[in-house]
Amino acid sequence: MNILVAGTGYVGTTTALVLAEMGWNVTGLDVDQNKIRLLQQGSIPFYEEGLEVLLKKHLQSGRIHFTSNTDEAIKDNDVIFLCVGTPSRSDGSADLQYVKQLAEEIGHNMDSYKLIVNKSTVPVGTQIKVTDWIRTAQLYPHPFDVASNPEFLREGKALTDALYPDRVIIGADSPQAASILKELYQTMNCPFVITTPNTAELIKYAANAFLATKISYINELAILCDELGVNVGEVAHGIGLDPRIGLSFLQAGIGYGGSCFPKDVSALLRISNVHGIPLSILEQTESVNQTQYLYLITKARERLREFDGKKIALLGLSFKPGTDDIREAASIRIARRLLAELAHIRVHDPVAKLPPELLHDSVTFCSTPEEAVEDVDAVFICTEWAMYQSIDWERMKESMNQANLFDGRNLLDAKRMKALGYYYQGIGNS
Ligand code: NAD
Repeated sequence: MNILVAGTGYVGTTTALVLAEMGWNVTGLDVDQNKIRLLQQGSIPFYEEGLEVLLKKHLQSGRIHFTSNTDEAIKDNDVIFLCVGTPSRSDGSADLQYVKQLAEEIGHNMDSYKLIVNKSTVPVGTQIKVTDWIRTAQLYPHPFDVASNPEFLREGKALTDALYPDRVIIGADSPQAASILKELYQTMNCPFVITTPNTAELIKYAANAFLATKISYINELAILCDELGVNVGEVAHGIGLDPRIGLSFLQAGIGYGGSCFPKDVSALLRISNVHGIPLSILEQTESVNQTQYLYLITKARERLREFDGKKIALLGLSFKPGTDDIREAASIRIARRLLAELAHIRVHDPVAKLPPELLHDSVTFCSTPEEAVEDVDAVFICTEWAMYQSIDWERMKESMNQANLFDGRNLLDAKRMKALGYYYQGIGNS
């Protein structure tokens, strides 16, 4: 079986490499020629640990190739994974333009049976749409199947998650499609859920929406904790030991971000609205997340009186550690707000780069955290990179103008920071 993975972003590149590792011959396709050039040269176009080693290994083994020639790639392969982006439209719904474009290209170039496997996160009913788009574009009515196989990898842990998934969800309405996918994943030692395409599509949204809800729940509770003088970390530990609740996704902070949770929550809300079935809990999940960062901003404004003319260090840009992805990151919301209130910002992140909107006279990108905190009136921790924990905070204090710490990820030990002479404000641990 020759496999094509269309879209070589976070999901596509990881999927392609994992399939090659499992012994299949894989081609990665992207319209972005720069990405393809980098991949052909053995470089991963984004930051994700472990992928580069695997890429070099399989470029050498000959089990992986990369191309931007869509027509040939479709003709040469039997199974085609769709791993293209499905960003939010302005009304919150998922934009399927890249999926549609690819489906039409597949239809146009089909010269034998193909199995099309959708890994992109898409609304319920997309498998039917993809089938229609392919059929309409076909020059000759070759048989084909479209299956749904949602992806659950986390950025920062993409390789481990994709190599050792908790489960494989296969949404297929043809036995042939299900059996090809089972053969493809035969070495995966985890439960397989074989279901309908609609169910598979909803499972992905329901999973992300549930995890986002857990985060917003603990984030809102954290603000009450600060008021009551209770430590939210201890509350999270105390409830999380109950296996019905679990410890994960209970770390209070300034809100979730990234390329998945915000857009998937809003897409599911959009689906529920279109069907007239409100998901009111999810509406709150989204609204808590949109305002959570303001809690820290308000606390900092109270402390500094105003931001106008103040120098502020932002430690961390990426939406979480282990990735350079800054899509919907809380750091960007904080930076936007501080700039609107005329602060000067000194930014550090070990891997993420400044987005164009922060290429601004009042923003300085620093290559070390030590450089970022020089002469500042306050530090905001926006990403829980482990390196910020091991900073010599005692020495750092000396180079700051005012020793104010606003820890948006509860990364540092509040007691220790206070003992060092810092004014410390976290989220529910102060
Ligand atoms: P991404 O933006 O990093 O990558 C998408 C890639 O598709 C880009 O490189 C783009 O150039 C390419 N592309 C667009 N149109 C194309 C075409 N016609 N032919 C070939 N390539 C094309 O996106 P991502 O983060 O990898 O996410 C992909 C999908 O997977 C999304 O639906 C996302 O919601 C879902 N997902 C993402 C994650 C994650 O952690 N990033 C996890 C699970 C699921």
